[in-house]
Amino acid sequence: MKFLNRFHNSIEAIRSHHWKYYVDLFSSCNYSCKYCLYRGVNLNQSTRCVISIEDLEQEMKNLSETGIVYLGARADVYQKGAELKKTREALSIFLYHKTPVFIVTRSPEIMVDIDLLQEMSKHSLIEVSITINTKNEKFRTQFEHRTVKHEERLALAKKLTQKGIPVSFHFSPIIPGLDDSQSLLSIMDEIKETGAECIYACLYGMSGKYRDSLIDAFDLVKSGLGKYLAEVYPFKNENVILSPKDEIGLEIIKPLAEYAKLSRILFCSAQFPMLDTGIRESGIFSQKLPTISDLLHIPTPSSSGDLYFVDINNFIEKHPAVDLKYKTAIKEYWDSGELFKNTTFVPVYNNGIVSHYKKTEKLDINTRIMSCIE
Ligand code: SF4
Repeated sequence: MKFLNRFHNSIEAIRSHHWKYYVDLFSSCNYSCKYCLYRGVNLNQSTRCVISIEDLEQEMKNLSETGIVYLGARADVYQKGAELKKTREALSIFLYHKTPVFIVTRSPEIMVDIDLLQEMSKHSLIEVSITINTKNEKFRTQFEHRTVKHEERLALAKKLTQKGIPVSFHFSPIIPGLDDSQSLLSIMDEIKETGAECIYACLYGMSGKYRDSLIDAFDLVKSGLGKYLAEVYPFKNENVILSPKDEIGLEIIKPLAEYAKLSRILFCSAQFPMLDTGIRESGIFSQKLPTISDLLHIPTPSSSGDLYFVDINNFIEKHPAVDLKYKTAIKEYWDSGELFKNTTFVPVYNNGIVSHYKKTEKLDINTRIMSCIE
């Protein structure tokens, strides 16, 4: 496939993402956020469309499998200054082929396609996720000055939900040390008021390549923040994207998950799937690939709550988007003992082979490398 790429290239990607494919429409993103994971591509580049709509149409005609497409994984498909008619054309193709689409944006420009989004929504083929991160205006002007303000993103979500579009929020990136817990919780209250269905919380992943300039920029937002983040993200290898130290990440995410439970809003954590407050099954998610969080919610016949491969296999088989490639990946991560990393399940070995995963009280974390589409 030329434009339709497989999303799951690592255990980190499977951990919290239901998408089977991703498609990028534009060469780069005019928003040029300093923290962008694709910053090498996106910083100060002017964007152009990188796909042929005719070829995408052909590719969709030949596609026999179902699965969610994440549209615009590395560049906002409603970014200002882009050829937005290409976004409309691509959406029309997905609608025609009844392919569910997930879009992450922070751009009010999305309203130009409201009629099409409404049509897709009628067939459970769309969810729009609005990115939000902080109310700190200094941060926005320093790190993402071309994007709209916090309040405008909330207003955009409200407009979309009022028009019947399923909306979630990407609460991302959450920067350790920037906002206190109360401020983060108040953002969750604001999100709830918009009618959004879910909050995806994602801790800031810092790129080793740009670490020094990022640290300096953080100091301009809040005195001492750069120094603090230098300790929280201790790089050994500049070619990776790291999440913050585990105990610091948990300290931030746990209260948010607990608050989400109390406030009855669905909450998913990119880093700590056992903190998710529920699973997603309706709308586009009827065609999802199961995440690690989904696997953790399987009712197990074992009274201990331990997980056996036969139960995992029976569960994933029920999902229409599951194919051999996905099943092979799950089996490989099961065998290598990595499948439930960052959860409370640890592998139990019998003659050197994983027999099952045991439920413990302890969080089993030994990797903080974050996923990033190559
Ligand atoms: S809007 Fe998203 S894709 Fe665009 S530069 Fe910012 S973080 Fe990157």
